[in-house]
Amino acid sequence: MSLTGLVRTGFGHHAPGKVSPLPGRSVATAAMETVALVLDETVVVPATDQDARDLMSRLRVHHRQLGEGARAAASGLVSGRVTDTLRTSGELVGVPVPDDLSKARDHLQSAASAVKDLLVTMGAAGLVCVHQPECPPATAPDFHTAHPVLRCLATGYSRLCNGVVLFEDTGYLKPNGGIGSPSRPLPRVGGESVPA
Ligand SMILES: [Zn+2]
Repeated sequence: MSLTGLVRTGFGHHAPGKVSPLPGRSVATAAMETVALVLDETVVVPATDQDARDLMSRLRVHHRQLGEGARAAASGLVSGRVTDTLRTSGELVGVPVPDDLSKARDHLQSAASAVKDLLVTMGAAGLVCVHQPECPPATAPDFHTAHPVLRCLATGYSRLCNGVVLFEDTGYLKPNGGIGSPSRPLPRVGGESVPA
């Protein structure tokens, strides 16, 4: 499939601003896919004016969804670095796409780079999962396989990307307040569950 075909099947069917609002963690994956497509140096994107407008409207949606996600995850208390990157990406995605295709490409690359910075900053702040494949959410049976983002060797616990705090004795604390006792074994990854 040609790249333009890929762009069209990926999101060409969506009207501008109507990219399906994916809840939760998929927001980051969708944003990473668009950013990777625009910043891929081995392909020429956008191929047409319509592609340029489609890609920019998609970047706008990613910016908006990531901003909403950051504010929700941080209960409104978004750190200065995240606020700065949000402002930068907001300014860039807010600029109309130039009519000239090569200028449109340059502008899209700037906007995609800004959204990428936003993803990296939010990932570092623990506001979004930027791992591939995505970490399982705290509600998934295999929640304990999420990437550790913080390890405290002294007290023997890890904070996972999905917000779960995992203790060395396999006890855990979930973001919703759920507590797992150390005596209850965690399900094995990719295998049948362990009898309790
Ligand atoms: Zn993750």
